[in-house]
This record gives sequence, C-alpha cells and structure tokens, in this order.
Amino acid sequence: MADLKERQEIKVAKTVKEVRHQVKIWKKEGKSVGLVPTMGFLHAGHGSLIKRAVAENDVVIVSDFVNPTQFGPNEDLESYPRDFEVDRKFCQELGAAMIFNPEPSEMYDNPKTYVNIEGLSDGLCGAKRPIHFKGVCTVVSKLFNITGAGRAYFGEKDAQQLAIIRKMVKDLNFDVEVVGCPIVREADGLAMSSRNTYLSGDERKAALCLSKSIAKGKEVIHKGMSTKQLISTMSQVIQGEPLAKIDYLEVVDGEMLKPVEIIHDPVLVAMAVYIGKTRLIDNFSWNPEEPEV
Ligand code: AMP
Repeated sequence: MADLKERQEIKVAKTVKEVRHQVKIWKKEGKSVGLVPTMGFLHAGHGSLIKRAVAENDVVIVSDFVNPTQFGPNEDLESYPRDFEVDRKFCQELGAAMIFNPEPSEMYDNPKTYVNIEGLSDGLCGAKRPIHFKGVCTVVSKLFNITGAGRAYFGEKDAQQLAIIRKMVKDLNFDVEVVGCPIVREADGLAMSSRNTYLSGDERKAALCLSKSIAKGKEVIHKGMSTKQLISTMSQVIQGEPLAKIDYLEVVDGEMLKPVEIIHDPVLVAMAVYIGKTRLIDNFSWNPEEPEV
C-alpha cells in the first residue's frame, strides 16, 4: 500500500475548491483522510508526522502555509523560511497524496470570525505571544473544515499547541481524532525546528543548552519534588550558556496547562529560550506512574 502511494504524483492544491473537489472523490471511494498541518520548510520532525499519517490513513493531505494570523506584529512572518519545491518533493517521497499551499488571500478574505480558546492560551508561549493561539485555532479549524480529515497529526514539540487543539476539538465537537507525535531531535539532542536555520554556528552550539537542561530535568525529577527545585536545577544548565536567555521555564499539568507546585501527577515541563535573537522551545512530559523517561 505504501509503495503504491509513493508511486503516485502528489497533487498540489492552491485553492479551497481544489481540496474540496478531490476530497469528495476520495470520500466517495471510501478513503480515510489524514491531515498534517505545517508551515512548511519541512524537516524530519514534520516527516515523522507525515509517515505516521500515511501509515494510518488511505490518503494524506499536508498543508504548507505560513499562517499570518498566528504571528504578532514584531515576529518573523516575513523572514520565516520557505521552500515549496523542496517541501513538495519531501511530501511526495513520504507518500502524501496532496500538498495544500494556499496564498494568504485564499485563506483570509477580510475575516471577522476567529476561534479563541480561553485559559490554556494565557501562559507559557501565550504570555509573550497574545494572539498566537487564536491564529492557530482559527487556521486549524479552517483546515479541518476544508479537508474533512478524520485524523490530524501534531507534534509534541509544540506541547501547548497540542493541548489547545485537543481542547478545541472537544469543546467544538470537531469529528477529528487528534494524534500527538513524539519530538524528533538532531543527533546531538537539539529539537528539530524550521527556526533552527536562523542560528549562527556559535548559536547552534549554544542551543544545546535546551536539550541538556531537559536531560538534567529528566535525571532529577521525582514524585514529591517541588517545582521550584526542578526549575532551579534546570535553569542552571541554561544560565551556564552566555548566548542563552530564558523566556520561560515552567511546570504545568499537560491537559489544562495550570501551574503545578509539587510534582505528584503527570506534568509537562516546558521552556522557551532565546539563543541570540532566536526563540526556541522544547519540553518533556513526565508521569510518576511511568517514571523511566
Ligand atoms: P510547524 O511547521 O513548525 O508549524 O510545525 C508543524 C507540525 O510539526 C506541528 O504539529 C509541530 O509540532 C510539528 N513539529 C515541528 N517540529 C517537530 C519536531 N522536531 N518533532 C516532532 N514534531 C514536530
């Protein structure tokens, strides 16, 4: 089945109409549709989502869209890396059936309707990026409606995003199964990200302090430990790196993202760290019932 998928030329859709037309045909044929939402400049982290989607669905749509509504006024919308032709080939090789690459004007025509989530978007990345998750929820809702996908794949790398999408799907009764996929890392531990291309040689080395801090956190975390102690131990690793500056380093519950003081139940330990001007995120989840991480 995978071989057959690989041999077919990937369909490139630029409009909502083209996607809907093709999805109608697939659904008539009884095919299940998987969706992998991305902002393009694809790497092996995205690849892991696409591979899983291809294994679990008859056809897979990868959306490749740098979504303007999730960028704040002083963020990197203009400079965000893009290479559609490379992305198209990458998706083709992994067996995706369609890549959806709309222009911003195709997705947004003077919109007045947005999807906003309360509470879960206030802290962590939301604290410094107040409109980010409204943009994410809006575009993901639109992609669910456009593609009619039964399953959608998201990375645990963006743990707050994943928790928010799960809650949004529940609250708004989207008929979509949300599948979370593990973080894919470079050989030296750095979590893969399209934004890693912003790093200079020295910054690339310095960026290892995130995964080193996570390794340290996994080593010392135990049931009954105070969050304060864990944060202090993990922060020291990052503070030892002169090019790094912590934006946040927090321990929250993985579902509602509420701060935790003492570690008893499963937790999400999440961080954003500036390496020079580049803001990188990373995290790990820990369950006292399954402590080996
Ligand atoms: P992005 O293109 O950055 O918006 O990411 C698209 C999807 O790929 C999101 O669900 C991300 O969480 C996921 N993703 C990005 N980087 C990684 C990674 N290193 N490992 C796993 N998933 C990832």
